[in-house]
Amino acid sequence: MHLISDLANIFRRGLYVSGTLFECRRCGKGYRHKSSLYKHTKWECGLEGQFRCKICHHVSKQKAHFVHHMFSRHAVPKDALNDIRLS
Ligand SMILES: [Zn+2]
Ligand SMILES: [Zn+2]
Repeated sequence: MHLISDLANIFRRGLYVSGTLFECRRCGKGYRHKSSLYKHTKWECGLEGQFRCKICHHVSKQKAHFVHHMFSRHAVPKDALNDIRLS
């Protein structure tokens, strides 16, 4: 994996400035600081298709698996996961 050039491409193609917010073109998340957006594109948005558990760092490829994981491992009700999205 050509990490450096991939990041450079993500940075060039995925970002644009809207008003005072730096927004991710992929997912629409907005950040006040360019460095925050850069971290997002580097660590979050680069992991498309993955749901990462913030409790134990388990990673699921599908939302259904993630919901099952949260429910069975951490007793998090499914209703609480409704607005979970790809990150
Ligand atoms: Zn994004
Ligand atoms: Zn977990």
